Amino acid sequence: MVKDQCDAGFYCKINIRTNYISDLRTKQNVLERSCRMNSSQSIIEKTLKLGAHNYHPKDVVIERAEGCMVYDPEGRQYYDMLSAYSALNFGHRHPEIIAAAIDQLGKVTLTSRAFHNAVLADFYEKLCALTGKERVLPMNTGAEAVETALKTARRWGAMVKGVENGKQEIITCSNNFHGRTIAIVSFSTDPVAREGYGPYCPGFKTVPYGDVSALESAINENTVAFLVEPIQGEAGVIVPPEGYLKKAREICTKHNVLLIADEVQTGFARTGRMFACEFEQVEPDIYVLGKALGGGVMPISAIAADSDIMDVFTPGSHGSTFGGNPLACAVSIKAMEILVRDDYPKMAEEKGRYFMNKLRQVKNDQIVDIRGKGLLIGVELSVPADEYVKKVIKAGVLAKETHERTIRFAPPIVISYAEIDDACRKIQSAFAQDRAGAGAG
Ligand code: PLP
Repeated sequence: MVKDQCDAGFYCKINIRTNYISDLRTKQNVLERSCRMNSSQSIIEKTLKLGAHNYHPKDVVIERAEGCMVYDPEGRQYYDMLSAYSALNFGHRHPEIIAAAIDQLGKVTLTSRAFHNAVLADFYEKLCALTGKERVLPMNTGAEAVETALKTARRWGAMVKGVENGKQEIITCSNNFHGRTIAIVSFSTDPVAREGYGPYCPGFKTVPYGDVSALESAINENTVAFLVEPIQGEAGVIVPPEGYLKKAREICTKHNVLLIADEVQTGFARTGRMFACEFEQVEPDIYVLGKALGGGVMPISAIAADSDIMDVFTPGSHGSTFGGNPLACAVSIKAMEILVRDDYPKMAEEKGRYFMNKLRQVKNDQIVDIRGKGLLIGVELSVPADEYVKKVIKAGVLAKETHERTIRFAPPIVISYAEIDDACRKIQSAFAQDRAGAGAG
């Protein structure tokens, strides 16, 4: 009896211990499985399986980010040298912008434009002050802002210039990038962006970028606007010939044609000026703005113009449910405040010069050109850039090729000089590997 009791106790202890171990093993398995489930690889697989393949992202998963650094689920860290195509001029999660968002989250986030909201007027005031324009029309994405500018120009053409409605023409540039809507891809010269989306919108003419004579020749009595990027970002950081914008301004004024500057990518200090048009002291009739306007936190875009142009809009003639929402406005107000207070244009100009000099020291025979303004820099190669991009990423710097042979480097403007040095060492090592004959990463 005593022995039995003793045995029972013994086996019971063993059982408890065995159960405990098997429980631990199960927990460990679950943990391992969940780790595997959330690994970069599994996330990429799920994304590719369930999402439309309208992008071809690099094999990096960003799980968290701060300033100009991003981290993947495995804890690898990278410098962000794309900055969400210049939407992250302030870096990731700028503490003051996040604080402004949190504050607004505790008040009201969405009202629609059926009612006034308490933040929109201040957003207008800040953006009017930055652009020197009298009025603002808020939207959400860059493409919507471009669409808004096109609608403004067509309506202005019909209502103010006196062009017969339906005959308005807008001149655009070769190799432009203004977004992805049907109207915008109608005048894209990139076959990949256009293919299969017909019928295309009429009313657009294309002239070579940088060619003022072609611009003037294309103008007729129905021309209402010329739409141009002061620097073509997506085309491969193409800086037009000096004097181009100034001459384009003169031509537009002479022929009573609106000059629309798409500063979605170049605006808000990216190029070393608040707006890239400032390089030639040019004032466009309409600014098209987006990306960094949202402080890297919210999508918000806008056009800014004077009343004689903006007053073509009447209630119901244009709008957006989310355009001008209080959360995006609060974030944007803070972002614009920081831009001016901390002199971001100067920061971008000085750091850009420093970064560009460092990049010029990278030794690789395949680099044929390094160009850009401020912290919008393109490194053009004599060969397709994707293999180099892979190596640069492997070395710890996120960048992407644009138009096959150019790698764009556009870090957050908050990047420090020490970080530029460190990132350049990594870029140098990625390019040097190739000289040593090492395979692509
Ligand atoms: N305009 C320019 C110059 C751009 O670079 C972009 C995007 O890269 C857009 C418009 C479109 O902006 P979004 O992607 O926010 O629609």
